Amino acid sequence: MDGLINQEGYSAADIQAADYVKKLANKMPGGFFIYRATGKEEILYANKSMLKIFNCQTMEEFREITGNSFRGLVHPDDIEEVEQSIRAQIADNDDDMDYVEYRIIQKGGEVRWLEDYGHFTQHDYNGNIFYVFVVDITERKKRQLQEKEEQLQEQLRRLGMIAGLSIDYESIFYADLDLDRIQAYRISHRFRHKFQDINTVCPFIGFDEEYAKKWVHPSDRGSLLQATNADYIRQKLSKNNSFHINYRIIQNEKEEYLQLRIVNIGNRDHVSQIVMGYRSVDDEIKYELEQKKMLKDALEQAKSSNIAKNTFLSNMSHDIRTPMNAIIGFATLAKKHIDEKEKVREYLNMIETSSDQLLRLINDVLEISSIEADKMQIEESECSLLDIIQEIQSAITPRASEKDIDLSLNISGLKHYTVYSDRQKLFQILLRLTRNAVKYTEFKGKVSITVKETESTDREHATYQFIVQDNGIGISESFMEHIFEPFERQQNTTLSGIYGTGLGLTITKNIVDMMGGTIEVTSASGQGSTFIITLSLRIQNRQFQPFQPKSQAQAHALQQRRILLVEDNEINLEIEVELLQDAGFLVDTATDGSIAIEKIANAKPGYYNLVLMDIQMPVMDGYHATSAIRRLENPLLANIPIVALSANTLDEDRRKSMECGMNAHLPKPVNMPQLMELVEKILTTF
Ligand code: ADP
Repeated sequence: MDGLINQEGYSAADIQAADYVKKLANKMPGGFFIYRATGKEEILYANKSMLKIFNCQTMEEFREITGNSFRGLVHPDDIEEVEQSIRAQIADNDDDMDYVEYRIIQKGGEVRWLEDYGHFTQHDYNGNIFYVFVVDITERKKRQLQEKEEQLQEQLRRLGMIAGLSIDYESIFYADLDLDRIQAYRISHRFRHKFQDINTVCPFIGFDEEYAKKWVHPSDRGSLLQATNADYIRQKLSKNNSFHINYRIIQNEKEEYLQLRIVNIGNRDHVSQIVMGYRSVDDEIKYELEQKKMLKDALEQAKSSNIAKNTFLSNMSHDIRTPMNAIIGFATLAKKHIDEKEKVREYLNMIETSSDQLLRLINDVLEISSIEADKMQIEESECSLLDIIQEIQSAITPRASEKDIDLSLNISGLKHYTVYSDRQKLFQILLRLTRNAVKYTEFKGKVSITVKETESTDREHATYQFIVQDNGIGISESFMEHIFEPFERQQNTTLSGIYGTGLGLTITKNIVDMMGGTIEVTSASGQGSTFIITLSLRIQNRQFQPFQPKSQAQAHALQQRRILLVEDNEINLEIEVELLQDAGFLVDTATDGSIAIEKIANAKPGYYNLVLMDIQMPVMDGYHATSAIRRLENPLLANIPIVALSANTLDEDRRKSMECGMNAHLPKPVNMPQLMELVEKILTTF
């Protein structure tokens, strides 16, 4: 006002009024100042409060600190923006009023915030003037800034929470159905073609058509596009706050499960604002499908094993009852006819057969339950495959003979006879297969057991195949799938008249598995069956090797020699024939002593060069046969060299052999080098 009242042309009354206004202005609680609106924006007046705001005592101090200009009063960083805003506001409104906020620098350097209410006035005599009221709003501003900072922090926390909660989602969109707009919050590579970044806004309708075409499995495309149809979404979300759909995409030619979840974030009465999240649910769904399959399988297995168990139990009650009835019945009969020896013998035989059946049934059931309880163990020891085969042959021959079945053995493919294995179990599984072969083969059929070595895996082991083949009733294709399952039989005892439990092959397969081997079956109804067990067994390296003649001449000399081998046991016969033939001999055989005598007696002298004589034989044993040969009339025949081959190796046995006229006594199983040495010695002496 000083600036104004110093102007010329004012009356004393004007000056007095101005003085009064000045006093008034100095009493005002807020800052007030006047400055020219042009040029240097020179400050014409500032009241006391204004000086206080600037921490100034006098007008001189205030002038110095502001440069006595509005431009100098405002913080240099704010002045451009402030002036621009004032100009714009004055130009825009009719009252020529403006409002701005800016910072100032007080005397002493402290920065304060002011709010500024300006009024622009045009004076004819003084030019354009701004009248300005200011209030120090530093405290308010600080509060506001702090609030803003807090809001920002809160917003960041919320965004963090959303990001955390939605971590599983590969794509997240916000959409407004009314406005037909969709914007991404997170975008997977599968949506990149449509949304370059999170600022991209697209029309909602059809936003995922390309996505569906490019990625979604053809069978799931329709349902996904239906789920993102605006009307469908409105209808679904009017009932529930969210819904989802699972679908498959195809990536690198593999199927992967994804889930789209749509959530209403607006009004339920009028659905418009929604959030859509896409996430992979592949692991969950695949796990769920797997679980379902497992449950289904388990249920089916439970059902079928239940059926099998029920069948087994009804068979069992029949199978136990039948032999039990026979035992009780024949025991009663035996008592009744106790004085008729023949009848009693017959009844006792029947009781014996029935007890055997019963025992076998009990053993099978016990064995299968010990397998199921994991109690069975494989115990290896040194064992002879020949012994095992021989034992099987003796066990099976009676039944095979009853049915007039031709039982043959083939061991020509065997190189190592002694192996390390669980003798008892190996015997048992081969016996079961052979017994089945005989059991399921009709009268006059054929059963063969073949044992061969297919390959040596290393110096210590060899792979063996045990093949049991028959030309019996065979196995149908449909039953083949169940052949190793417990209690399963192609036909029950009542239908087939063949006694069985359906446990034998289950036990066999379990044992083979425990031995680390495999079992295979090939069969067809009416055409017989072939069971092949393949096992890798540790071999005993002290095997007796087939005899190798020392020289060509020796080999040639031996080839001329004919041996009569007298042996009743088929398997021993087969092995010995093979070994002797391998060594170059001509071999003829006789299966008991009397046949041997007949053959020698009828032969031309010199036809046979040597007799190898078993001791224990049916019809006539080796001792009697040797004595009889020695008594033949023709001395050329009677003096033929005879060597005893016997499992009885006591001195007593040896003495007996010599007494009845044998030339030597060798133990069985045949030790080929020892035999050859002896044969060579005898043949060169005789
Ligand atoms: P079982 O003979 O006591 O019934 P297994 O477990 O030994 O039980 O055999 C199961 C079923 O497999 C038999 O009931 C039979 O139907 C069939 N089977 C086994 N071996 C033969 C075979 N050599 N020829 C035909 N069928 C066979």
